Amino acid sequence: MHDDRHLTEARLDRFVRERLDQASYLRSLPLAVSGWDVPDEPVPFSEAILQQYRPVTSGEPWGAPWSTRWLHITGQLPEDLLSSGHRLEIVAELGYSDEMPGFQCEGIAWHRDGSILKALSPRNKYLPVERLGIGADGAIDFYIEAAANPDVAQGWTFQPNPLGDKATAGKKPLYVFGGVALAVLDETVWELRQDVWTLAGLMHELPTELPRRHEILRALERMLDVMDPDDVSGTAAAGREALAGVLSQPAYASAHQIVATGHAHIDSAWLWPVRETIRKCARTFSNVVALMDEHPDFVFSCSSAQQLSWIKEFYPELFERIKLKVAAGQFVPVGGMWVESDTNMPGSEAMARQFLEGKSFFRREFGVDCKEAWLPDSFGYSGALPQIVASAGIDWFLTQKISWNQVNVMPHHTFQWEGIDGTRVFTHFPPADTYNSELSGRELAHAQSNYREKGRSNVSLVPFGWGDGGGGPTREMIAAARRTGSLEGSPAVRMGSAKSFFEQAQAEYPAPPVWLGEMYLELHRGTYTSQSNTKKGNRRSEHLLREAELWAATAAVRKGSAYPAAELKRLWQLVLLQQFHDILPGSSIAWVHQDAERNYAAIAQQLEGIITSSMRALVGEGDTQFTFNAAPHERSGIPALAAAPAVSVDAPVEISELDGGYVLDNGIIRAVIDSNGLVTSLMDYASGREAIAPGGAGNHLELHRDTPNAWDAWDIDEFYRHNVTDCREARSVTLESAGWDAVVVVERLIGASPLTQRISLSAGSPSLTISNHIDWQESQKLLKLGFELDVRADRSASETQFGHVFRPTHTNTSWEAAKFEICAHRWIHVAEAGYGVAVSNAATYGHDVTRAVREADGGTTTTVRLSLLRAPKSPDPFTDRGEHELVVTIRPGAQIADAVEEGYRTNLAPRSISGAEAVEPLFSVFNAALVVEAVKLAEDGSGDVVVRLYESLGERSTGLIRATFPVTGVEVTNLLEETVEAPVGVLLGADSVELTLRPFQILTLRFKR
Ligand SMILES: [Zn+2]
Repeated sequence: MHDDRHLTEARLDRFVRERLDQASYLRSLPLAVSGWDVPDEPVPFSEAILQQYRPVTSGEPWGAPWSTRWLHITGQLPEDLLSSGHRLEIVAELGYSDEMPGFQCEGIAWHRDGSILKALSPRNKYLPVERLGIGADGAIDFYIEAAANPDVAQGWTFQPNPLGDKATAGKKPLYVFGGVALAVLDETVWELRQDVWTLAGLMHELPTELPRRHEILRALERMLDVMDPDDVSGTAAAGREALAGVLSQPAYASAHQIVATGHAHIDSAWLWPVRETIRKCARTFSNVVALMDEHPDFVFSCSSAQQLSWIKEFYPELFERIKLKVAAGQFVPVGGMWVESDTNMPGSEAMARQFLEGKSFFRREFGVDCKEAWLPDSFGYSGALPQIVASAGIDWFLTQKISWNQVNVMPHHTFQWEGIDGTRVFTHFPPADTYNSELSGRELAHAQSNYREKGRSNVSLVPFGWGDGGGGPTREMIAAARRTGSLEGSPAVRMGSAKSFFEQAQAEYPAPPVWLGEMYLELHRGTYTSQSNTKKGNRRSEHLLREAELWAATAAVRKGSAYPAAELKRLWQLVLLQQFHDILPGSSIAWVHQDAERNYAAIAQQLEGIITSSMRALVGEGDTQFTFNAAPHERSGIPALAAAPAVSVDAPVEISELDGGYVLDNGIIRAVIDSNGLVTSLMDYASGREAIAPGGAGNHLELHRDTPNAWDAWDIDEFYRHNVTDCREARSVTLESAGWDAVVVVERLIGASPLTQRISLSAGSPSLTISNHIDWQESQKLLKLGFELDVRADRSASETQFGHVFRPTHTNTSWEAAKFEICAHRWIHVAEAGYGVAVSNAATYGHDVTRAVREADGGTTTTVRLSLLRAPKSPDPFTDRGEHELVVTIRPGAQIADAVEEGYRTNLAPRSISGAEAVEPLFSVFNAALVVEAVKLAEDGSGDVVVRLYESLGERSTGLIRATFPVTGVEVTNLLEETVEAPVGVLLGADSVELTLRPFQILTLRFKR
């Protein structure tokens, strides 16, 4: 035969574009529209409908960036349409384009009684007339709240633009109103369109060698032949008939099985502020419940308790409808987290609280216990997560983000993920490599071909639906799912829940392969550094929460003070929200980060209030100066978790001048600071060993060009290292103060940014502190602060949640080479056998560690650098401009235990207050390896004291924890504070617990009162 395949395919394309796509509606009648522009921020329905509306015409520009226009739609339903037998719909053309749903204007329709009808989105712009509840008079009367959200992404060019800040976004209208019409749907044409979409999509994925591809092509050709382009409606039934044969051919017996679960990945803030996310959630969820009314087998997976909590607060009527759909098993809460947080940077306790708050909300509101962790989009997954999720009663883990790796491909799609402590969790990466599927032929075929477990397992999950305010799953997607249930050549799709997928996957793959340790994302490495103030606010808040809970719990037990449970919960939830995977990582617009910084300031103020009143209650009125130590280690003679009279230190720091610089010596360590403010020598007396490499320096600043190929706020590309300005020179080095706190002040100019460094050594301190105050005025630069150490370290240890992760310092394979920028919490440690150095920080997460062998002496220099600041210009053109205070410490002669202690030391300053009595700690822990991470009163309001601790050294550690207050019993609980059986090695006594914990094991204890 002659091959006319391409001609027929082109004929189909044009017919669809010009005839079929235009023929879904038989008739349409414009409706009268009047409008009111909200002066500033959105207002509730009750306020909006009281305003003066003026007529609005089709073709009228509207919508300054971030503005809202309310539309009042009125009209009369003609009698003949009512009896037409066809489905009647309202179609609203707000001015959206087909591209990028979720990143442009959106609307939501309101019934006159204030209930939500359904949202209106670019790919979901209809409203079934039957939802309007039109009375006998046939009067149409409803409202649309239209949001003129700007497209900040601008085609993902990453050019700086002013749209992400209301103050700079301008007033120019973004959209052209296209009218609201009453329309008659031709269901046969619509169904034909879905037939063609699925068949054409499948056809293009099939090899041309297969007969099936050509059978579909010829069926489509017959459809084209029988249809009259001038009477699509009249011939649509014949067209469908022509396709019925190829649509009814069943799937291959070995076809890949796909569980399609409805989803809408709504970023809790990103290229829009939190206030808009709340409306995006209302729009998408209202679409979802409307779709469920028509499709009882449609299942939607919804993560993030925070988002449903917003619906409960701001849209209670919609929340009640969601509850009914949850009860029906259609609307399925997943993930069990407060938000889909970042997992690189949240601290130990915060990561635990994401699950505590999330799971508690879902249980309380819906009676649902989420069994899967759901993090499709976070930027890498810490090795502590398996244990944390398991401790929260979660059996399964889902993500797909690692498919974004720049270099290495993960070898598995379904596997056991083993964390740093040995906990394993059954994990799945949807091989469709998307969480926003349309269930297109291409996506389904990719899931099948990409799936790496073939031959051992044959089922995968595909989340489908437009995210980010695009409106969620559509009726077209459901139509595609139905047509691909069993279709020759296509994977076999069934709609279902994540739970049903995981049960099927686990049953058919009982012994999957194992991936050990963190799942490092080989992309978005700049997110450890961008938006420094947001990161600092997070770190500060986490430690203030620790202090507030500890001292409030102590005051409640010792003094009977009221425990501010509700206030702490509210503050925790706000901190957890801001750990969302575009807020804490610094990848949001300016507006989001301004909100975050304002929230952190308020959080700090309220927590300081709780801390002060608790300390005051504990020490009483008096003139003795008491020092409170909230750290889990004794400090300067003050026991952990206690307050005692301040202890005086024996001798001040010795200071001498040397070649224009200074030598600081406190008898524990000795530091030489040269005339350029570089630390040229750092020695601890215990080891007697020099930490700084010969010819090297500590406190060495380097300014790099930082122009990634894409994703500016997100990415650091490895070639940043090719361009560097060495910032060794100081403008001045002066001694500011001597005595018990010796401070040397170094003034520098970094690019165009003045930097003041205060290098300090305190009496009794094992570490040197460098406080960096900088007025950052750079653009697309990365500032690194480095320490060139005389240590032959083949790996570095970085603190993560409840432990640390080792990463090689070499680049033997592409996997190690890709980790050229790494995340650490409060400390990073490098060591050779018997000697190490810890570098700690108060607000920094990005680091890199490199190594070089010295020609002169054959020794190895290991360079640890912190990424202090970046200056990306997209999506926030002025990221990190302005003043910053960043504290770094270096502790020579440090083992891992010292690094752990140093991390708390740098982040938890002791507090002083005058009073009458000392405060005994609630708990004494006998073994410093066992670190108390949280002390709080129980969530259930019983007054029981909950303490969470973990093995911090990566060793088997044995110890004892004893309560120093009257208790009636001790129980082991999970992260949700539910009693569980005591694990092996944990022996419960009357008021104490004997412990033998495995490396990095987390243990939560409830001391009953
Ligand atoms: Zn996301």
